[in-house]
Amino acid sequence: AVPLVVAINTSMAARHGMLVRDRIAMEQARNLDTVVFDKTGTLTAGEQGIVEIATVEGRSEDDVLTFAAAAEGDSEHMIAQAIRDEASDRGLSVPDVRGFEALEGRGVRATIEHDAMPAVAPGSAGRSEEGTDSGGRDGHTVSVGGPNLLRYLEAEPDTDLERFAEDAGSRGEGVVYVLSDEEIVGAVALADVIREESFEAIDALHEMGIEVAMLTGDDADVAHSVADELGIDTVFAEVLPEDKDEKILELQDRGHLVAMVGDGVNDAPALTRSDVGIAIGSGTDVAVESADVVLVENDPRDVASLVRLSAKSYRKMQ
Ligand code: ADP
Ligand code: MG
Repeated sequence: AVPLVVAINTSMAARHGMLVRDRIAMEQARNLDTVVFDKTGTLTAGEQGIVEIATVEGRSEDDVLTFAAAAEGDSEHMIAQAIRDEASDRGLSVPDVRGFEALEGRGVRATIEHDAMPAVAPGSAGRSEEGTDSGGRDGHTVSVGGPNLLRYLEAEPDTDLERFAEDAGSRGEGVVYVLSDEEIVGAVALADVIREESFEAIDALHEMGIEVAMLTGDDADVAHSVADELGIDTVFAEVLPEDKDEKILELQDRGHLVAMVGDGVNDAPALTRSDVGIAIGSGTDVAVESADVVLVENDPRDVASLVRLSAKSYRKMQ
């Protein structure tokens, strides 16, 4: 039988908007000394707005957006939504693609058929030059993604695009690159906003003597800019989904008792690895199923409430 005091605590947690899936983890929460937050969609709203588009010579902003929107057609990522919205606002006609692939934590890739390629704008150089637009027999591969994608494709931005990315990064904006076949044709700067609740969430944890870290697949400049604003102690940036749980393990190996707070599919291994895995309410089913506690109200401040509730409840039991 479930001890009465535990049953009471579980219903108390429910009243605080917490769904306890693992009672032992809930009990551990009072001893946490480190909380790791996913960035996008957890500390930030995750809604992206397009701030600026950069192009290489011979390409227009509309070219770059057309390729990007085509590649992002089947992606559920907030970045994809923002790109499709902008293309639609500009009235661009976006070609159909096939072979859509989501490259987790990196970006997306798809193929545009030759005959579906956007018409070459009159006077736009570059397009007709040999090699650049000939594509493969099977059409053109278009891809969109961040620095992780460029590393994966072994592509390097030119110095102008590099400067564009640095400027955007220093403003806390993320940059995704757009590629047609192997060639980078442009980049898009996107801004996310920090959730109002995140400031209090982190202050409350600090007041309890708990260290706060951020774990994200996003660009290091963007991550540091958000972390500085929030007063976060440690940043793990440009981490691939398959490596996220390794960072949790590193902290545990150094003797820390670690909670992970995340919302995405790619947070699931880190949620499982952590001592207390916390899924935030808007999270995917996979995140929820990997978590020990679910914050139903989707409020990062509830992490501190959880620690408080754990301390209050389990002290009574001893
Ligand atoms: P986080 O770890 O912050 O939740 P993700 O793992 O979803 O972020 O993505 C990490 C990075 O990979 C993004 O910042 C972006 O650069 C790139 N990325 C992922 N999905 C897409 C996409 N659909 N389109 C463009 N870029 C993407
Ligand atoms: Mg996320």
